[in-house]
Amino acid sequence: MSKHKDLKGLKRDTRLVLSGRAPESYFGIVNPPVARASTIIYPDLAAYENPDHQYRYGRLGNPMSDAFESALAELEGGAAAIGTQTGMSAITTSILSLVKTGDHILMVDTVYPPVRGFCTNVLGRMMGVEVEYYDPCIGAGIKALIRENTSVIYMESPGSATFEVQDVPAIAQAAREHGIKTVLDNTWSAGVLFRPIEHGVDISLQSCTKYIGGHSDVNLGVIVCADAALGKTVRQCAHDLGVAPAQEDMALALRGLRTLTTRMKQNAANAAKVVEWLQTRQEVTRIYYPALEGHKGYEIWRRDFSGANGLIGILLQEAPAGAVHDFVNALALFPIGSSWGGYESLLQPQYLAKCRAANPWKEKGALLRLQIGLEDPDDLIADLAQAFEKFNKVRG
Ligand SMILES: *Cc1c(COP(=O)(O)O)cnc(C)c1O
Repeated sequence: MSKHKDLKGLKRDTRLVLSGRAPESYFGIVNPPVARASTIIYPDLAAYENPDHQYRYGRLGNPMSDAFESALAELEGGAAAIGTQTGMSAITTSILSLVKTGDHILMVDTVYPPVRGFCTNVLGRMMGVEVEYYDPCIGAGIKALIRENTSVIYMESPGSATFEVQDVPAIAQAAREHGIKTVLDNTWSAGVLFRPIEHGVDISLQSCTKYIGGHSDVNLGVIVCADAALGKTVRQCAHDLGVAPAQEDMALALRGLRTLTTRMKQNAANAAKVVEWLQTRQEVTRIYYPALEGHKGYEIWRRDFSGANGLIGILLQEAPAGAVHDFVNALALFPIGSSWGGYESLLQPQYLAKCRAANPWKEKGALLRLQIGLEDPDDLIADLAQAFEKFNKVRG
């Protein structure tokens, strides 16, 4: 942490540069080096028998995980952070650390879709935990769904694919009044645009695979806990499950962290330009973008968030499947790819019929998610324009 032992008085961008670093411990080397370690040897038996001995075994913690976790705790404003090898394992570990057989949990309907499989197969079938999906726009109305055995309210804001913005403070307060823990997937904001813990959330988790990694070359997750006691519970669960991340991945995430806000500002500026242009296109019947007036939760986004990112959902006019195929295949700068938050633009088709329970998906047009990268937005717009011509040719 260089000469600033306490980063508290510094602004966010300064903290993002200084956090998770200790050059004085590494011969002045700016970035913490990857020190490959499974085995860590002890000086004597007393050290081995000391439960507080600093590093015991690679999987249980090492200088790199300390650096990564302290930087992420700093970013999210939490008391403790626990790294996990994927965003998905950050989600599963968070939930598993808080539930037991017979519990009921409230799951936002717009959750990252693969979580639905975990809810059905692991929570439901293996553990006997009941999962109830709720409308992301429910706000304080969540109170009506709380039961005696409700142990977790899970949020993702803005949600996956359709980006509804949740009233997090209202939900967190309702949960607190009933002694229920709240977990929020904060990947959309990367911890930069929104700090859930400041709004009363107990656990803010992220897929660092997205904006924090930022270069499409790492799968990594983090769980940030509001208080230290909860941090201990979650860390124990992470150890029980064995979900420790690789050092190389954490090193890449720390590298990504240094340019995080700079990249995100450009992603958002480029996306805003693309959105403005998309609004003029008759092929697009709806745009899903939290910074757009009229979007579900726009007012809450304005109240709670400091900006937007590079993700846009577009609903195309109803058209034959061939028109959608020709549109997508004609794009040169938007290859089809899962994931987002990297430097490059991507497109991912969304099939929500199986991913919505509280609000069944009834739209007939194709829903596409665009991840706007760091290319020149004029090139991106020109690419979309030529592909819309192909779309119109088939649609007639
Ligand atoms: C990608 C993603 C995840 C999962 O991250 P992985 O590293 O792929 O496991 C979780 N939540 C959200 C919102 C995501 O977009």
